[in-house]
Amino acid sequence: MKLNNTPVTQHCFAGHSFYLKRDDLLHPEFSGNKARKFMALLENDYPNVTTLIGYGSPQANSLYSLAALAKLKGWTLEFYVAHIPSWLKQNPLGNFQAARELGAKIIDLKALGCDLSPHQYIEQIRLAAADANQGCLFVPEGGRSPIAEFGIQQLAQEIRHWVQDQNMDDLTVALPSGTGTTALYLHKHLQAHNINVITCACVGGEAYLTQQFDSLGETSHPQILSSSEKPKHQFGKLYGADYQIWQALKQQTEVEFELLYDPYMWQCLATWFESHPDQKLMYIHQGGLLGNTSMEKRYQRKFDH
Ligand SMILES: *Cc1c(COP(=O)(O)O)cnc(C)c1O
Repeated sequence: MKLNNTPVTQHCFAGHSFYLKRDDLLHPEFSGNKARKFMALLENDYPNVTTLIGYGSPQANSLYSLAALAKLKGWTLEFYVAHIPSWLKQNPLGNFQAARELGAKIIDLKALGCDLSPHQYIEQIRLAAADANQGCLFVPEGGRSPIAEFGIQQLAQEIRHWVQDQNMDDLTVALPSGTGTTALYLHKHLQAHNINVITCACVGGEAYLTQQFDSLGETSHPQILSSSEKPKHQFGKLYGADYQIWQALKQQTEVEFELLYDPYMWQCLATWFESHPDQKLMYIHQGGLLGNTSMEKRYQRKFDH
């Protein structure tokens, strides 16, 4: 099975024209940057694998993407989480609910009375016993792994072909970073083609992001933008400015963006546009829209009265 060649659409936001790479449309269930990062697992054959094992937050985009991947491959997903909050158990929604509907087994370690982190539990208990790891494929959190390069290289190639078809000499590609895996491998496969990658650190700040880039073994990094906003942006926190820019994007582009990562990148871009008025920009829509359900509810409780 091969998934590729997502469309590129053109939009205007706050008076600036930009292109949008619609990776949110890769597949109805297996889409966005997690799908790109796990694409090697979809395309390669694993004749002995029956069980995919992952861990992370019970609301993570990667939970849903791994559940979708497991379904496409006929595998079972076991996803280990430190804790499932009781409100989520009582009112399942978003990535958590959709992953369960795809058949994912989500294992709450706190409910099992276990103090180990999900990563420790998988390595020290789940996969430790003789034969216990038979048929199992273990993926690191959020796809932070060199296996991600395969799918992101394909994305880079689609962008290069599009640039050629448009007869463009140069382009800037923008996307927000969590682990930075997507931005880093895009940069690696685009820099030689006069395509510049810019990103921002949504998780843990610029020093953390640079460390992530280094830990993937690449010395040439994409440019990290920051916004002039104070206080500093913290992952998962609610910011009125984020909610506003997200609503304005939806109104002006008629596309729904993601609510956890995208708003901060757009704030950084607002400054960037001022100093690069003639630069052509492509924004990568990295999917993750299911996670918006719970984020939007939180925003509505805080700001809409
Ligand atoms: C996971 C995710 C990111 C961050 O991707 P990294 O490769 O970890 O930097 C950004 N946007 C969305 C929508 C995501 O799901």
